[in-house]
Amino acid sequence: MVGPPERRLLEPWQDPKAQPYLRIERVTKKYGDVYAVDDVSLAIFQGEFFSLLGSSGCGKTTLLRMLAGLEQPSAGRIYIDGADVTDIPPYRRPVNMMFQSYALFPHMSVERNVEFGLRQERLPRAERSERVAEMLDLLKIAELRKRRPHQISGGQRQRVALARALVKHPKLLLLDEPLGALDKKLRENTQFELVNLQERLGITFVTVTHDQEEAMTMSTRIAVMDAGQIVQVDTPTGIYEYPNSRLVAEFIGSINLFDGKVVDRVGDEVLIEGAIGRPMRMRCLQPLALGTPVAVGVRPEKLRPCERYTDDGVNQVRGTVEDIAYLGDVSIYHVRIADGPMVEMTLANIQPRTEQALTWGQEVAMEWSPTSGVVLTD
Ligand code: ADP
Ligand code: MG
Repeated sequence: MVGPPERRLLEPWQDPKAQPYLRIERVTKKYGDVYAVDDVSLAIFQGEFFSLLGSSGCGKTTLLRMLAGLEQPSAGRIYIDGADVTDIPPYRRPVNMMFQSYALFPHMSVERNVEFGLRQERLPRAERSERVAEMLDLLKIAELRKRRPHQISGGQRQRVALARALVKHPKLLLLDEPLGALDKKLRENTQFELVNLQERLGITFVTVTHDQEEAMTMSTRIAVMDAGQIVQVDTPTGIYEYPNSRLVAEFIGSINLFDGKVVDRVGDEVLIEGAIGRPMRMRCLQPLALGTPVAVGVRPEKLRPCERYTDDGVNQVRGTVEDIAYLGDVSIYHVRIADGPMVEMTLANIQPRTEQALTWGQEVAMEWSPTSGVVLTD
């Protein structure tokens, strides 16, 4: 999330009285025998920056196109601001879509490209110029206004496409992989700008991405999709810290999964025995019967070298450092557990690299706390 929490909208999805701006009700899209989108329901609130995240082919673009009215659902309804728009054509929906390819007109100047939609709406000339100028300023492309799309960079084209979508003041803006064509640095800058812009204009954004970092940085909430279905909807923090399945846990960031089964419960905590050959103790509020097979998920940055390793220590593993990836700010260690899995641990490089304690081939014992991981049943 960008910015301190008080700058973000209050969380309307927590409020049972809040009315969603966009409501997707049991929407399915079939192409022949393929369920591109399979029984999806979602409620998205005004001012949200909502991301659909999933691997290629999971149905993101199809869902977005149905929201825009460019595809007709095979079943289900779509409501915008309380009105059923399922059978309403695209140009009559309060929606604008920015395509993956940007689709700028090559023969028109930047200014004309941005103005295009307003001309179609037959807005008076003075108002058109004013709104175009405002958008060019906002996106810092005013000095490019006389150029054609082939005379500007990929990042600048992306801004023009965004200006063209925003100038119409849509209530709902749909973005399909909006930053896909940008290099890493420019993408990061644009992510921040996009969030600022969205907050200033109060538009509801629904974006599609396969880039988890992008979704994490920009979104109020993320829906993770797999094979046409939504598998989890939550805030970036919720998705990262409390994934509801192995699939989501492994899709977002890296995670160590230790298989086992529940052998005891004491209060808020369960005791788990399994793969690592010693007990694990985890906070778990979900009621789980003894014997339930589970996986304990621990993110690499939640592991720490042990202060005191003991033979029956809880939540401890020991192994040999097999690989080190030095990334500057952090290093990633791959530690081979005897007769067990490879464990990944990330440590911040507080000391310069030459003074770091851990090196290749070294034995290391690691531990984690009962609250810094999840117990997964799916
Ligand atoms: P994503 O955007 O997540 O990569 P898509 O929504 O483009 O995924 O596609 C979801 C599934 O639907 C894929 O299996 C894709 O091949 C299929 N699909 C998409 N559009 C069509 C179409 N017009 N005709 C047939 N199959 C399609
Ligand atoms: Mg797509």
